Amino acid sequence: MRNDVIIVGGSYAGMAAALQLLRARRTVVVIDAGLRRNRFARHSHGFLGQDGVDPAEIAAKARTQLIVYPTLTWINGRAEAANGVKDAFTVTTADGVRHEGRRLLFAVGVTDALPQIDGMSERWGESIFHCPYCHGYELDRGRIGVIATGPMSVHQAMLMPEWGEVTFLTNGVVTLDAATRADLDARGVTIEDTPVTQIKGHADVLLADGRNLSFAGLFTASRNAPATPIAGALGCETEETPLGTQIRTDPTKETTVAGAFACGDAARIPHSVSLAVADGAWAGAQLHRSLVF
Ligand code: FAD
Ligand code: MG
Repeated sequence: MRNDVIIVGGSYAGMAAALQLLRARRTVVVIDAGLRRNRFARHSHGFLGQDGVDPAEIAAKARTQLIVYPTLTWINGRAEAANGVKDAFTVTTADGVRHEGRRLLFAVGVTDALPQIDGMSERWGESIFHCPYCHGYELDRGRIGVIATGPMSVHQAMLMPEWGEVTFLTNGVVTLDAATRADLDARGVTIEDTPVTQIKGHADVLLADGRNLSFAGLFTASRNAPATPIAGALGCETEETPLGTQIRTDPTKETTVAGAFACGDAARIPHSVSLAVADGAWAGAQLHRSLVF
């Protein structure tokens, strides 16, 4: 059976798109590998009506409401390849099954490449974050360390004093000119140029000279890229952003491949649950229009 839309990625963006299409009684296949980007965090903040709720719970509730629509096929699994052209796409899942659809939507999210520092990855989402709007308030205006990954980290360090007492750890990654140092100083940011050796305890930073700095929390700008290469393999162009790489889309969320759309973190910046939901709802309505006109 040829479905109206195949959605790869059934998290916030993908489900928000599916909801619009299902309510238009369109046939939708959602293929979801279940690896939401925020799976490392126990609380999600900043999404209206769901502030502080477990991000898994937000996704589970949305899914419970989706699966009652009779034109939905939900597949727990991984899409391995997308092929074909507008009106005749196929998506192959890891079990070898081919799913047919007139349109495609990539709502695949992004990966976070973290700086290679001992102790960082196991604290990601626990005491190390990238988004102050998501996790800054809970640090109670305590001591915050910002670990540099590139030029965007200066921007992160400049923003952060809203949430606490900030130390900017340049870690040999950024070199600050006098004007930037003055800007950071005016914001009350302490600059630490000694390289970071390790992160221990809750958020203790061990420096190369043996000093240990304790923080309420750490922030670092991870580099992002679409969580799966299949859009690229289909021919969808990507574009560089200050945060990494994303799938290029036009204002209707259509990629450079006709009939293939993309939304959520994989196809917009900045990133949040609210923005992914909005982008997905918009993509869903635009996909519907593309099936009609
Ligand atoms: P995702 O939620 O990442 O979902 C993508 C889905 O696609 C996943 O289920 C994945 O498994 C699936 N997928 C990918 N490839 C395939 C494939 N080939 N086949 C099948 N399925 C596939 N935002 C907030 O608003 N508040 C917060 O408090 C917050 N905290 C965060 C904490 C951390 C540690 C991180 C990293 C992020 C946080 N975010 C937060 C950001 C938030 O997670 C993202 O903005 C949001 O998840 C984006 O939704 P999405 O649907 O675009 O992508
Ligand atoms: Mg999604």
